[in-house]
Amino acid sequence: RAKAGGRNCYCCFTPEMDETIAVHRMIEEDLRHALATGEGLEVVYQPQIGSAGAVVGVEALARWQHPTHGHIPPSQFIPVAEQTGLIVPFGEWVLRQACSASRRWPDLYVSVNLSPVQFRVASFVDRVVAIVQETGCDPRRVELEVTESVLLDENSGTIAALRRLRHAGFRIALDDFGTGYSSLGYLHRFEVDKIKIDRSFTQSLGQGSKAAAVVHAIVALGRAMSLTVTAEGVETDTQKNFLHTAGCNEMQGFLFSKAVSAEKLTQMLSQLPITETAGAKPARSMV
Ligand code: C2E
Ligand code: MG
Ligand code: MG
Ligand code: MG
Repeated sequence: RAKAGGRNCYCCFTPEMDETIAVHRMIEEDLRHALATGEGLEVVYQPQIGSAGAVVGVEALARWQHPTHGHIPPSQFIPVAEQTGLIVPFGEWVLRQACSASRRWPDLYVSVNLSPVQFRVASFVDRVVAIVQETGCDPRRVELEVTESVLLDENSGTIAALRRLRHAGFRIALDDFGTGYSSLGYLHRFEVDKIKIDRSFTQSLGQGSKAAAVVHAIVALGRAMSLTVTAEGVETDTQKNFLHTAGCNEMQGFLFSKAVSAEKLTQMLSQLPITETAGAKPARSMV
């Protein structure tokens, strides 16, 4: 292997890169093992709050407790899982966990993140439908979150897959909205139900007028297209109040709750006061 700094070096590996490759390999091997045994993997759930203050849904988020390295965040292992194809069985595992767990919260929907890589599997839609049936879950209570990068894969049958999923009853949410390419171009060509304002916008609220303008524009766009607009990463009352006034339909963030285990969520829900809003079913309220 070529060493960094060599004069006739065509392929320069720095020590940092060696380390990156080693870490990558470690993650791949250990994640494969974790997936086979189920050890150290968990799905946690973050509440999503409707405009009346009630918990309306939860987002399923993967957690990995490595036996020797401790907590490894999704931002580190999801990319490796995507590069190695492990995301396919991993994604199915998360969906199965989330669907099974969600039977305990029949009034809430459950959102699951999907990777663009999963859409490349020819039988993807059939597998998703099968998992939902196996777990006795109603697809109308399952929301599938995709990022704009999914929509970039034009030839992959992604558009047809999304349409079939929607026909099967699933809701589709565009995650991290505003951070990818050509958001607007995609919005009018693809059928989605929800847009999730990326937390970078939420967290810039109150720091000058630009983030506020972006949020107002996204909410107006969502309204005009009859989409639900959710804000991610709400951490302060100031952000919450701004988003509420702007007409945002749902919020998610540490201000309400971080993602918690299925057991903890069940316990939290049972302790929340039940509020009745005119015209709506009684619901567990967080504010
Ligand atoms: P995401 O789908 O946009 O999920 C939201 C992320 O924001 C989560 O990070 C959540 O813990 C974090 N978050 C929520 N509220 C707040 C807040 O108020 N402040 C801050 N600073 N952060 C907040 P997490 O769990 O680390 O996941 C990161 C990303 O990894 C996710 O972003 C998602 O793209 C991906 N991911 C997580 N689980 C899965 C999975 O099962 N499958 C796939 N394909 N991707 C996943
Ligand atoms: Mg998400
Ligand atoms: Mg995401
Ligand atoms: Mg997001």
